[in-house]
Amino acid sequence: MSESRNSKSKNTICVHEGQHIGEYRGINTPIYTSTSFGYLDTDERLYPRYFNIPNQKVVIDKIVALEHAENGMIFSSGMAAVSSVLLTFLSKGDHCIFQNGLYGGTLHFVNRELERFGIEYSILPDNEPESFRKAIRKNTKVVYTESPSNPLLRVVDLQVISKICRQHQCISVIDNTFASPINQNPLNQGIDIVLHSATKYLGGHSDICAGVVVSSKKHIERLMQTSISLGGSLNALMCYLLERSIKTMAIRVEKQNHNAGMIAEFLVLRPQAERVYYPGLKNHPGHEIACRQMTGFGGMLSFELKGQDITTFQKRLKLIRPSMSLGGIESIICAPVTTSHRLVSKKQREEEGIRDNLLRLSVGIEEAEDLIADLEQAMGE
Ligand SMILES: *Cc1c(COP(=O)(O)O)cnc(C)c1O
Repeated sequence: MSESRNSKSKNTICVHEGQHIGEYRGINTPIYTSTSFGYLDTDERLYPRYFNIPNQKVVIDKIVALEHAENGMIFSSGMAAVSSVLLTFLSKGDHCIFQNGLYGGTLHFVNRELERFGIEYSILPDNEPESFRKAIRKNTKVVYTESPSNPLLRVVDLQVISKICRQHQCISVIDNTFASPINQNPLNQGIDIVLHSATKYLGGHSDICAGVVVSSKKHIERLMQTSISLGGSLNALMCYLLERSIKTMAIRVEKQNHNAGMIAEFLVLRPQAERVYYPGLKNHPGHEIACRQMTGFGGMLSFELKGQDITTFQKRLKLIRPSMSLGGIESIICAPVTTSHRLVSKKQREEEGIRDNLLRLSVGIEEAEDLIADLEQAMGE
């Protein structure tokens, strides 16, 4: 496992970094709800859509410190972050490379919108470094990755990809949502831009929709100019809730790492789980790369259920709730075939290795034994 470079530990950053002390020295950051701020005695022009109000800044400072970045921005959703990044760094006539196995919403955006803006793109058949290299064209400006990926937890070698990008002067981007800033800091591997759906591990309680981007000062300045016009900023109340959530993120994710590891080990021994996908398992194809570039293997895993209908199985679960999304403190399960990948044809799903009996588990912070007992009883023992 690679060591974190920041001198402060992640738990300490999560609790303290960026916090504002208000007039009355309260222990929490005050919520500045204003959308109008005085301008006479200052050069600052504060306005929520300019991404510069105090509560936005607090959250950004925390994530910037966690990801070892220079600057960042907070958005109203993960997709606002994804679309703002792509529409900033790609122009008419440019080409973008997307890895294989992207979040459904990102894929939908790419398929629907990029062509209208005259942006060319390639979606790779696999995530081997050679495939990235071969796909590079003269006009390639951005290389977009997501590791570990959804739902098969595929791992991309970030050091190799960022090197290829530097050689060809492309900007490398990663969607780091599945890993969270606790388990992976891709800027350390040379990736240029890191984004997250903060709806997942940063929010962590299935009640906030937000997104973040962190990078160098230079890239964020450029992103800021376009994003101010696109308008995907987050309001102060939500920023405060997100700040509060991030305070416990490191301990939440550590527990989720632990629980997911225990469940993966349990599942590999069950005949009812045909294949188990978890980067922490020694036989996972990306295990060695994951050991190099991650500090924990994350709270997401998936497996193929054998000998039982997946809907019946989900109904038999008592603790683990069948529901969409991920990253919350409660364990939830979903079948990609009927949720995230329901709009993808069966043929395309099969090509990607997503079988009809695949279940994706977002592991929460409950006791691992309780979760394992629930899976066990639903498997019929
Ligand atoms: C959920 C998700 C997104 C989109 O985020 P929203 O907050 O739903 O807009 C992007 N990437 C990944 C990997 C996700 O899981």
